[in-house]
Amino acid sequence: MSNPTADDATAFQPNDSCVMGTYGRQPVKLVRGQGARVWDDRGREYLDLLAGIAVCGVGHCHPHVVKAIADQAASLMHVSNHFHNTLQPVLAERLCALTGMDRAFFGNSGAEANECAIKIARKWGKAQRGADCFEIVTFTGSFHGRTLATVTATAQPKYQAPFAPLPPGFVYVELGDVAALDNAIGEQTCAVMIEPIQGESGIRIVPPDYLRLIRALCDEAGVLLIFDEVQSGMGRTGSFLASQHAGVTGDIVTLAKSVASGVPMGVCLARGDAATTLVPGDHGSTFGGQPLACASALATLDVIESEGLMEHAAVVGRQFLNGLEGLRERFPTLIAEARGVGLMVALELSVPEARRLQRGLLDRGVIVNAVGDTILRFLPPLVITAEECAQVVDTLGELLAEIE
Ligand code: PLP
Repeated sequence: MSNPTADDATAFQPNDSCVMGTYGRQPVKLVRGQGARVWDDRGREYLDLLAGIAVCGVGHCHPHVVKAIADQAASLMHVSNHFHNTLQPVLAERLCALTGMDRAFFGNSGAEANECAIKIARKWGKAQRGADCFEIVTFTGSFHGRTLATVTATAQPKYQAPFAPLPPGFVYVELGDVAALDNAIGEQTCAVMIEPIQGESGIRIVPPDYLRLIRALCDEAGVLLIFDEVQSGMGRTGSFLASQHAGVTGDIVTLAKSVASGVPMGVCLARGDAATTLVPGDHGSTFGGQPLACASALATLDVIESEGLMEHAAVVGRQFLNGLEGLRERFPTLIAEARGVGLMVALELSVPEARRLQRGLLDRGVIVNAVGDTILRFLPPLVITAEECAQVVDTLGELLAEIE
């Protein structure tokens, strides 16, 4: 890795005045990627521990994925869903086998996958339990997307406030509170929706016992359980779904992010009655499940399987976490906690220095993500090596020593 300096980064001049200002961007323009590394327009190399926010799971520009996309682009990029295509059913079958679901709907993003889940739950609820059964219970700290329904499912006022009035039908429960959850589930509830690991909130791991309890409460009340595995799915945590660590199967599972390695794709998978709830006319997508994205997703699954990336994520993730735990022991006044499952990892600080560390790492050629003032989030490509993770731990150690 070369070593871009803060001065160089300060000199960076964005030229995006015609782009809506919805993002706080880092002062770097990335132009190329390979494996766990990316390069900027000045030829500087970075180790990428954000991977497009968990999108580039098999690494940037994996040759098998690149070839599949190029081959498919040369034969048929898009066909409307008014016709069959050869790849969509094959992908649906593979994803169903990996998740324990029966059927898949393909969209283009995580929010769309969750919109589909919400629509299934509402239609299912009304059909099974009457017209008033449309409420969905979600949890504090959750993130389910930015469309109006999914931002309402996202139980965080900071994402919602400017966009009121919000659609009705969402009820929020404090994550981990058993009694509140029990109280919230009633006649009007059609589903409970949860991320097994809250990603946007800074890798908050939901205890497996709580997931099992939610499953039991849903079964008792006869309501659907929706797992939002948009960030935690696709092998990132060492199993295909994070919920599989707890041995719990949802009725609906959503995937997106790394499903097609950066070609937009979101998937809503369902089983049982939920899988057959939507019929022609209920839902659809112009681009969803088109051959190009399906080819990329199938190639992505090939790589995860042939390179043993789930096992690799579990092993390297544990080593990385051990390294971060070592930093916590070395800097007990600066670090509150190191936590993670597989390669979904966070370092929580006891001081508001996350952004300074993010910038310091960027200046030293390492890309990470600061969540608020106190959390550093790491979502590297699953192909990252133990040596590369150790290098990041060393660099972080140097920066923490400076802060101390
Ligand atoms: N659900 C979860 C758990 C997410 O982490 C995200 C995005 O970060 C979304 C949904 C929304 O996905 P998208 O940005 O693709 O709409």
